[in-house]
Amino acid sequence: MISESQIEEIIEKNEIADVISEYTMLTRRGSGFMGLCPFHREKTPSFSVHESKQIFKCFGCGKGGNVVHFIMLAEGLDYVSALEFLANRAGIEIEQTGSQSANLNKIRQDILAVNKEAAKLFYKNIRTSKMAQEYCMNRGIEAKTIKGFGIGYALDSWNNLTDHLKKIGVTEDLMCQAGLVIKSNDGCHDKFRNRLMFPIFDVLGNVIAFGGRVFDSSSPKYLNSPETIAYKKGKNLYALNFARKSESKRVIMVEGYMDCIALHQRGITYKVA
Ligand code: ZN
Repeated sequence: MISESQIEEIIEKNEIADVISEYTMLTRRGSGFMGLCPFHREKTPSFSVHESKQIFKCFGCGKGGNVVHFIMLAEGLDYVSALEFLANRAGIEIEQTGSQSANLNKIRQDILAVNKEAAKLFYKNIRTSKMAQEYCMNRGIEAKTIKGFGIGYALDSWNNLTDHLKKIGVTEDLMCQAGLVIKSNDGCHDKFRNRLMFPIFDVLGNVIAFGGRVFDSSSPKYLNSPETIAYKKGKNLYALNFARKSESKRVIMVEGYMDCIALHQRGITYKVA
């Protein structure tokens, strides 16, 4: 839950004309601004921004509202995600109400930070591994896709990631909570070994989990992150962060990462897995 006072702060610190200027060019007109509507095709501006009321209104398609409604429409987000998007834009940290949820939110943020570090390491690994790059080439995964989707490589090693995370000060507890590391009797070791790594993003582009694919025919073919505080399996669609930015009103649902990527490379960006 985001408190009313924080919602007010988020709206206040995101000046509506500034935000909208990132999506369409606005020109000063009287007490406000006019521009071409980002939500329908038009040649003469019928999209207006009222500065003192901090609202927008399009006289062409009828869309209107405050800055949160604008972001919901422009970024294809629900209300809470739009608030998070704007909080992020203004550098506001959302405080969850209630100490238990505040604590959970803190752990979630920590897991997201660890996942991001892991994704960076996997990406660095793929850039220096001929084997992984050749595999991608043979599977038709283009270099720009590797970059765009943040695809990486978990080395054939028991401690590459564990050591890296330790070195930057991540506790073993947190590594395990993020589902990246497994604790056994003789210490901690990497969960993902010798796999092509697909980061799974939420709608805002945070890395919430990973899917790791083997290079040969060994099993399991895919190894996924376990459910964590940051990742609930039934609640996420792979590549929704890309699909929501597509102009299409349709969404194609496919089975796996590879199908999704293959479609994306053919210019079909409105797909999820
Ligand atoms: Zn319009």
